[in-house]
Amino acid sequence: MLFEPSFGREVALRDTRIREDDAERERVLNSGDARFFFVSGPSVAVNGTGVELVFATSAPAGKPVYIGSDKGLHFFAIDVHGRTDGFSELNFADIRFTGMDFSARDIGLALAAVALFEWTHAARFCETCGGDLKSSASGWERVCDNNHVVFPRTDPAVIMAIRDPQDRLLIARNPRWPAGYYSVLAGFCEAGETVEAALRRETAEEIGANVVRCEYRGSQPWPFPRSLMLGYAGWVDDSEIVIGDEEVQDAFYITRADFRERVMSGDVKLPGPASMAYWLMQDWLGSPLEDLYA
Ligand SMILES: [Zn+2]
Repeated sequence: MLFEPSFGREVALRDTRIREDDAERERVLNSGDARFFFVSGPSVAVNGTGVELVFATSAPAGKPVYIGSDKGLHFFAIDVHGRTDGFSELNFADIRFTGMDFSARDIGLALAAVALFEWTHAARFCETCGGDLKSSASGWERVCDNNHVVFPRTDPAVIMAIRDPQDRLLIARNPRWPAGYYSVLAGFCEAGETVEAALRRETAEEIGANVVRCEYRGSQPWPFPRSLMLGYAGWVDDSEIVIGDEEVQDAFYITRADFRERVMSGDVKLPGPASMAYWLMQDWLGSPLEDLYA
């Protein structure tokens, strides 16, 4: 598959009933079918392979958060961020750099837990009354003393492979990136804005181009801290580029032949396979990006 985002492969069933039913969750916790994994910021504890979650089969110290079930097993996450009690022997891997090699089950579990704990650390006060929040529904809700409920937040961001009338790909670089790195355009959706309008606005702002058509390709979570990447292909009606944003240092359209040559020579460096950009570029290229690094 030329378009299969590494972080868009969730398979476990998120069972809201078990989140909300304390007795049922307690039964599952002690059933022998419970598995516990460990999360610290963007990292999860892995076994010797480096790309498989390591599981405890009995509840470790800490508050287990119910993530979901798969093939008869029930998975709980433990947030060990900042804890020093007995977790130092675990080997952690940052999923931004290794998650593409995880199984579909493990990356889905890891992303859900990383996202949830990021939000848990950030959501300290009630949005309505300013009161302190406490965990509820196995960590999937937070509630204040006035019973206002706060849910995990996700920020939609659009990322788009823009093509010109000659079907060349627009690649651009941000001045903060390491030398040689290029990617596709991206930006957050604003309040009250459709994803398609955000795509047109960002493209106009960054390269001064007019998007005449776009097609949705797929999505993946990017919980660092809380984005959902919505991947599109977009077509502009003109090849002119007017850089209009300090976030863009350089931008140009590239043919498939030039793209292959410049990536193979190392002249143009690309984001890795955990990123949505990688899959959108591969989708445009029509052949595996991996081949260019062989
Ligand atoms: Zn409140």
